[in-house]
Amino acid sequence: MRGRWIEHFRGYMFAVAATAVALWIRTLLQPVLQDRLPFGVFYLSVIISAWLGGTHAAVVAMVLGTLAAAHFIIPPQSSMLIVEPADWVSLLIYAIVGAVTIMTFEKTRCDQRKAEQRSAENLALTETLKKSDLQKDEYLALLAHELRNPLAPIATSVDLMARCRDDGRRFDALRRAVQRQLSQLVRIVDDLLDVSRYLQGKMRLLRDPFDFREAVGAAVEMVQPQIDEREHDVRLLIPDEPIGVNGDRVRLVQVVSNLLSNAAKYTPRRGRICIDLRTENGSAILSVSDNGIGIAGDDLDRIFEAFAQVDSSHTRDHGGLGLGLALVHQLCEMHDGSVDVISRGPGKGSRFEVRLPLVELPVPPVRPVESSEPLDLESMSVLIVDDNRDAAETLSMLLTFEGMATTVAYDGPMALDLLRRQKPQFILLDIGLPGMDGYEVARRIRADHRQDGVKIIALTGWGGPEDRRRTREAGFDDHVVKPVDPGNLVDLLRGAQPA
Ligand code: ADP
Repeated sequence: MRGRWIEHFRGYMFAVAATAVALWIRTLLQPVLQDRLPFGVFYLSVIISAWLGGTHAAVVAMVLGTLAAAHFIIPPQSSMLIVEPADWVSLLIYAIVGAVTIMTFEKTRCDQRKAEQRSAENLALTETLKKSDLQKDEYLALLAHELRNPLAPIATSVDLMARCRDDGRRFDALRRAVQRQLSQLVRIVDDLLDVSRYLQGKMRLLRDPFDFREAVGAAVEMVQPQIDEREHDVRLLIPDEPIGVNGDRVRLVQVVSNLLSNAAKYTPRRGRICIDLRTENGSAILSVSDNGIGIAGDDLDRIFEAFAQVDSSHTRDHGGLGLGLALVHQLCEMHDGSVDVISRGPGKGSRFEVRLPLVELPVPPVRPVESSEPLDLESMSVLIVDDNRDAAETLSMLLTFEGMATTVAYDGPMALDLLRRQKPQFILLDIGLPGMDGYEVARRIRADHRQDGVKIIALTGWGGPEDRRRTREAGFDDHVVKPVDPGNLVDLLRGAQPA
């Protein structure tokens, strides 16, 4: 502010000096010009003031020029009177040309300021882009590292499995190792897909009032192997009464299991983890605390940002992509809730607290009652349609072990052709097929009354609500996201009731 006044004052000084010089020149030229062109040289003082001192200085120079011309040059001299119409016209022209000059300089100055601002913004943007490009490269390297981690033991196990086919126990241990590493890979890919959905604003919830205790129970079950492996002592404080929340079950299980899995991961072996679920002032509060490595005060704010990892030195020991907490944060907000973290610092453990609005459960939660006996798959037949031959063949092998009669097709027309000659109870149908996609195949099967009652199950890599809606509309009975857990698929088939 003060600098601006000094600048203005300097401009006014310019204007006074320029007008004085102009008046002096005009006085020198008086014998030649007499009382013609009374404002002529004062144009120069206006232009110079506008150029060097800015708009304010130019306006002052114009006023001073008018007064000087009226007083010293225009007759009657030594008075401020302008009598002759020709002098009035000169004054008018002086005023117009002066105003246009001032406006032109002002516009040029404005454009220049904008250009400077734009160039500063461009510079800042270039810096940001360079930084994010570098972060992206670092992130890709981290991602490659995280994906390679489970791939190495899978490759070794598969190699060893071929060598110890006769040693049942070793074979089983290797198979379990492959299974564990695969589930880790699936989790990384799922998290990446979720984060990309959330960054594109495409994440949708399927909300229903339900008992939050169920989500906590399911999450504990999911993370139990990790907890057991690290021999943690887990304390569960869950109330006996239902805790109603209006939420997407699957997503809330994801929230709790992420927090729990972090607690297991960032707590040294044989640590203590406490899961406490309670209600307070109309909110359901879940806190997951551990006595693990803790978090430094400066890092508490940024751990909920996507791709944030606190400290590469110790977090690298634990792997991870820095996505879990970003998803937890986003999902809590989408449920009109929040998540907070408290830690007294490195080595002092951490506590994550999720708050969700409580809702009344409409009726006491009814546990789903098995409506009928599970199916015996022995007498059932299934058509598997997948253009990935390995996927189709291994799935066929799996279902053959269950006693099912299987047929395999690698594209839509081949599947429809087979269906002219057979009537399976189930069709496991991939969506992304070459030529005719799974939706179209399902629609044609539904239009064929010979196949009435067949259960069509979508096997696809796409698992968003929109994808599920499309499969339902195309006539599918169920939607299973790849990679399929064999146990779950068999359970699903057993639970299905073909007409
Ligand atoms: P990831 O675990 O894959 O790195 P998250 O988003 O789940 O990603 O966590 C982000 C960071 O927050 C982690 O890298 C870790 O430094 C820190 N963090 C999360 N949970 C805990 C915890 N229970 N104790 C200590 N640090 C944690």
